[in-house]
Amino acid sequence: MVEDDTERPGIASLEDAALESRNTGKPVKLAADSDIPFSLDNLRYFAGAARHLEGQGASEYSSLHTSIIRREPLGVVASIAPWNYPFMMAVWKIGPALAAGNTVVVKPASWTPLSTLEIARAAEEAGLPAGVLNVVTGPGGDVGAALVTHPDVAMVSVTGDTVTGKKIMAAASAGVKRVHLELGGKAPFIVYGDADLDAAIQGAVVGGYVNTGQDCTAATRVYVQRPAYERFVDGFVQATKRIRLGPTASRATDLGPLISSAQRERVEGFVERARGARAEVLCGGRRPPRMSRGFYYEPTIVANVPHDAEIVMQEVFGPVVVVLPFDAEDEVLSRANSVVYGLAASVWTRDVHKAMRAARVLKFGTVWVNDHLPLTAEMPHGGFKQSGFGKDMSAYALEDYTEVKHVMVELTGEARKPWHYTVYGDQ
Ligand code: NAD
Repeated sequence: MVEDDTERPGIASLEDAALESRNTGKPVKLAADSDIPFSLDNLRYFAGAARHLEGQGASEYSSLHTSIIRREPLGVVASIAPWNYPFMMAVWKIGPALAAGNTVVVKPASWTPLSTLEIARAAEEAGLPAGVLNVVTGPGGDVGAALVTHPDVAMVSVTGDTVTGKKIMAAASAGVKRVHLELGGKAPFIVYGDADLDAAIQGAVVGGYVNTGQDCTAATRVYVQRPAYERFVDGFVQATKRIRLGPTASRATDLGPLISSAQRERVEGFVERARGARAEVLCGGRRPPRMSRGFYYEPTIVANVPHDAEIVMQEVFGPVVVVLPFDAEDEVLSRANSVVYGLAASVWTRDVHKAMRAARVLKFGTVWVNDHLPLTAEMPHGGFKQSGFGKDMSAYALEDYTEVKHVMVELTGEARKPWHYTVYGDQ
């Protein structure tokens, strides 16, 4: 999620980056040079976007009236955030909701409240009126659930697991609340035989292992066209072995630990079950032998698995990438679409026609061509299928946090209108 043109963070944001690194266990360079500056850029975008509400022009759509569209805030928005990018996810929710005129109650994930509390402190210091931005901490099952069902909450915005999204959607339905769901992902990464393989290998390493693979857009299913398969896999394994695990405060660390012991056990479970079903683990697949502290797990490549294996179809949310060979274009596009998720996908080719066909067929909210991961504040991010609905970032997010009201003003001033006879009296 590194933005080329964002400023290097200043002193305050370096402090925020160190806090976010401690909050999550992510390498400080990821927090300092990606999460924090990208989030600040998002806030700046929404500060400007608030001055550009767009929509249908006022006009006489009925000859007797002028119709006007108003875009109004919904009221109180409950924003429920995950632990993988706590600062950035909070900002993605706060930015458009406040810009649209709502008040917000943010609930960070229980593992990672620190940087969200820091946002609240900074907002207070900046002079935001009391009550406009609120943070409540605690477990999802009670604090989160209480927010979702609270009668004063008009909209619930959640980023989290698809199972959580379904529960929240069901609970919110009792009050017919608007929901905005940014849920899980299982991104395909499609490498055609004509692709620049060095670029694709670099892209797979970065896309697969960013944030220790705890990323909803992570490149988790790498499909490689058969003539290039061996060469790609060799290069990918070599590059993966060069990833440096280490203390997160060191700028020389590429990969931090997983968020928790339970998350590491979950990741291990996927790899062990795949091994048990005769998958080949080409590298990693274990806890690093010399690191006894922290929930580290080596970056892992799994091969020789059926296309419908659990590790191909379900979100692992750890540093685990599956490589799968393919022969034909139709075959790979249909396999890429065969999961319940639809958040992000990438295609690697030098052929513009093939790239455009993939962009049309792939059922994912973002499709990259010859890249994987970058996002930009001006463009929407959001899912198809069980990855949810509603967009983060861009003018689409601002729309999601507003309600459209039609105001219709009668123009004639006559008591008896030409159409009244249809209800009362004769023509
Ligand atoms: P999670 O679903 O466990 O928790 C997300 C949030 O929901 C937390 O704040 C949690 O406390 C809260 N919550 C849980 N149960 C709740 C309930 N019944 N009612 C109200 N709130 C409840 O997710 P996580 O483990 O924190 O984050 C990882 C997940 O988030 C992954 O599935 C990942 O793909 C997804 N994610 C998606 C995006 C996206 O943009 N689509 C971005 C980041 C993460």
